[in-house]
Amino acid sequence: MPSATPLRYRVAMPEPSSHEFHVTLDIPALRDRPVLDLVFPAWTPGSYMVRDFSRHIYDLKITGNRHLLPCERVDKLRWRVASNGQPVQVSYRVFAFEQSVRTSFLDQNRAFLIGTSLFFLVDGAQKRPCLLEVEPPAGWLLSTTLPALRGTRHRFSAANYDDLVDQPVEVGKHRQYAFRQGGTRFEVAIAGATNADIARLHAHLRRIVGATGVLFGGFPFDRYLFIIHTLPERGGGLEHASSCTLDIAGMAFEDEKAYQRFDELCAHEFFHAWNVKRIRDQVLGPFDYTGENYTRLLWFHEGFTEYMQAIILLRAGLLTPEHYLKDLGEDWAKYAGRPGRNVTPLSELSFEAWIKQYKPAENYANRAVSYYEKGKWAALLLDIMLRQATAGRRGLPQVFRRLWQSHGRRGRPVTVHEIRAAAESVGRASLGSYFSRYVDGTAELPVPAWLRRAGLTVKARSPAQAEREDRVKARRLQGWAGLSFASGEGAVVKNVIPDSPAWRAGLTFRDEIVAVNKHRVDASTVGKRLADSAPGQTVTITFFRQEILRTTSLRLVRSPERRWSFAINPTASRPHRRMREGWLRGF
Ligand SMILES: [Zn+2]
Repeated sequence: MPSATPLRYRVAMPEPSSHEFHVTLDIPALRDRPVLDLVFPAWTPGSYMVRDFSRHIYDLKITGNRHLLPCERVDKLRWRVASNGQPVQVSYRVFAFEQSVRTSFLDQNRAFLIGTSLFFLVDGAQKRPCLLEVEPPAGWLLSTTLPALRGTRHRFSAANYDDLVDQPVEVGKHRQYAFRQGGTRFEVAIAGATNADIARLHAHLRRIVGATGVLFGGFPFDRYLFIIHTLPERGGGLEHASSCTLDIAGMAFEDEKAYQRFDELCAHEFFHAWNVKRIRDQVLGPFDYTGENYTRLLWFHEGFTEYMQAIILLRAGLLTPEHYLKDLGEDWAKYAGRPGRNVTPLSELSFEAWIKQYKPAENYANRAVSYYEKGKWAALLLDIMLRQATAGRRGLPQVFRRLWQSHGRRGRPVTVHEIRAAAESVGRASLGSYFSRYVDGTAELPVPAWLRRAGLTVKARSPAQAEREDRVKARRLQGWAGLSFASGEGAVVKNVIPDSPAWRAGLTFRDEIVAVNKHRVDASTVGKRLADSAPGQTVTITFFRQEILRTTSLRLVRSPERRWSFAINPTASRPHRRMREGWLRGF
């Protein structure tokens, strides 16, 4: 409805130190709707957890014709008002004190506006155009991809509610940068203190943008904005169709690793402008903001993005193959040590993310694994399988390009069958068993075997073998109980691996171990005292379970943990070298 009168949102911040936005929503006369339902989002797309943002609303007033209108609070996120088809004004305040990529924030230095935690939607009028007017304190700048109305700097238009809430606004005295690439304007807003070399961050962003553009053959937007918040600690990123928000640790740029982490986060969120924002499951846009939007594809949208971020950095020259393989070995060691990696299928991990991954119980690590992490390994496996089928010429980048052309660009959602069909046509091979075993099944991902086929040497060493030159240390690393501990002072059990010696001895989550063989221990010494005994020896464990002191004994076994290393195999056969070259260097 191009000529429909827009919904008009106004955001003022007269007292930034109160952390309260003053929001006004003017709803025009909706003649066909005598009763209006005002709905406040329960979640923000890209962050799959119900957060009930309406808990931060105060002083809600609904007026019509200068009179207060009675309204009925239907449930936690819905207000119902009889407007009789007349214009209505809704005013309220939103407390905004959580600094995260998914929530609005306000203090005396800056404001971050993200519509899902700020704006009501009017049920049934979601397709109407929206206007946004921001009233910042004097001297504050605005950065957003929302187009400004002609001749204004603080008034913006959005095609509809979805469009409005998918374009955050950074407000404050942040630094602004811009560059062009292939006809597209890229803007960067950096808010907060940092010890990073800004010119270097900027140069890295350009390379990431360039390599991703090469992969997809251009950009699907005219403007793109990176909003970067520098915080005391890392806070991750959140993708939007034409922008992303990155919460990084501002003062952590003290080594190369910090720049690598920045590169990875940028490449990840930027890749999402295609994978999940445009190449996406049906339920992931337009969204239902009132509750869970269930998808079985998060392993693809997140895990495959996690994998592709490294491929982008390799192609951008920001990561060498040697460095990548070294990281890959360390990451595989972590993954292969996760007891829950083959318990729940990837498709189910995705579906249940709302209630399991983001609300983890004590047993989470034993029953599940992150779909980011397992999805990344599944992506690597598929890339290498496709490289084998095509003598190294084609792989996962081609699958993404194909899905972009066939679906994303045309606004068609993808299904798992279409992802499989795209991969099969790129590899010209059947991939049925890949999907049944690794996506819908729980078979171990045969990553080491496939890495050997892709021209790598793959080594797995026990902790003792890895410390062979120090004989004392090597001997002490052989025994294993199957326990991990929470961070803190006391040796509080975080996890007990199923069927491990500790499991069989009856130890469980939150037990606090106070002595090993009658020797006092805390979080920093419990591992050392356990290592005093060798595999086959029995140790006595004294621990508190709640308030009661107890004793048990367990017999250590040989450690099943492995340290993995992956490296280029210089004597790999020609077909294997071709696969490797295609995987690590080709597009
Ligand atoms: Zn992501």
